[in-house]
Amino acid sequence: MSNTKRAYNFNPGPGPLPLEVLEQAQAEMLDFKGTGMSVMEISHRSKEFEAVIQTAEADLRELLGIPANYKIMFLQGGATLQFTMLPMNLRATGSADYIVTGTWSKTAIKEAQKLGAARAAANTESEGFKGYPEKLDLDPKAAYLHFTSNETIHGVEYFSEPVPPAGVPLICDTSSDFISRPVDISKYAMLYAGAQKNAGPSGVTVVIIRDDMIERVPANLPVMLDYKTLAASGSLHNTPPSFAIYMVGLVFQWAKKQGGLAAIEKVNRVKADMIYKTIDESGGFYRGHAKPEARSLMNIPFRLPSEELEDAFAKEAKKNNLIGLKGHRSVGGMRASVYNAVTVEGAGELVKFMKDFQQKNG
Ligand SMILES: *Cc1c(COP(=O)(O)O)cnc(C)c1O
Repeated sequence: MSNTKRAYNFNPGPGPLPLEVLEQAQAEMLDFKGTGMSVMEISHRSKEFEAVIQTAEADLRELLGIPANYKIMFLQGGATLQFTMLPMNLRATGSADYIVTGTWSKTAIKEAQKLGAARAAANTESEGFKGYPEKLDLDPKAAYLHFTSNETIHGVEYFSEPVPPAGVPLICDTSSDFISRPVDISKYAMLYAGAQKNAGPSGVTVVIIRDDMIERVPANLPVMLDYKTLAASGSLHNTPPSFAIYMVGLVFQWAKKQGGLAAIEKVNRVKADMIYKTIDESGGFYRGHAKPEARSLMNIPFRLPSEELEDAFAKEAKKNNLIGLKGHRSVGGMRASVYNAVTVEGAGELVKFMKDFQQKNG
């Protein structure tokens, strides 16, 4: 692969995958472990695939320190389907609390409200989704408290968990900062993440759920929406997204080889610091979105002095092989997503480009 062109990929999702992972998938593509078939072509009930899914689960347990009383599920439908499955399975006839800090938590509560009661324990939209809520209005009887650990569009990330009232389970959409740093899983009743931001290709969603939550699942849910059935079958009630599961398994192995999540966090901090420093030292040419304490290590939205300059920035960047930097239309401007697979070298290329662009246009 040495002369294959690879982009410096700052896409928000699907995002980049580690080169080693792609190369391993390529090497195993035609003959997976002596089967004479690719992973996509073998039975999901074969011993070869069983090893794939069991290894992926074991590696994720090790990476995140997931205790034995949690189940791991590999599901379809994206994080978006979890916005629906979560209240269906865990709210019963009660009400759920949501902390709204950006587009994704806003979407999550909207979905939950279609099927029952959900209230915003806080909503920072009137402040432009720039940071944490000052205070939470928590329902002590809530079925659960939901938050989004990293708001992918606004670049607001929680580095310590909001604290729910005693007995209220904490649930997290961690789609865009999944496996980017260590997390104390024991604080959570459930976490979920679409894989395509940080952990693999699209097509699989990882759900980590504590056993006592599964006890709450009502009877007679449609089977593909039923955590109890899906967990009991080991994500094999029907044909799972087998290739996507294989790929997240390779990413988990890669993450272990990097030294685990503490080592990965260190690199992620180096990359994010480089970019935030460039923004902060630009004399106002580049302007970040999030408040300093809430700045995401994964997604860095920023503006330039004019929309013309922003268009020029995106175009010029592309010419320099720096891809995926256009911001979400709701925030405008630029966004650099620096997921695990973005290298320090890649972040350095972006910083060089930003300084150069400012010099020519500032
Ligand atoms: C991308 C994203 C989603 C939606 O994920 P899909 O897998 O596309 O459904 C939800 N939440 C967050 C935080 C995201 O970044």
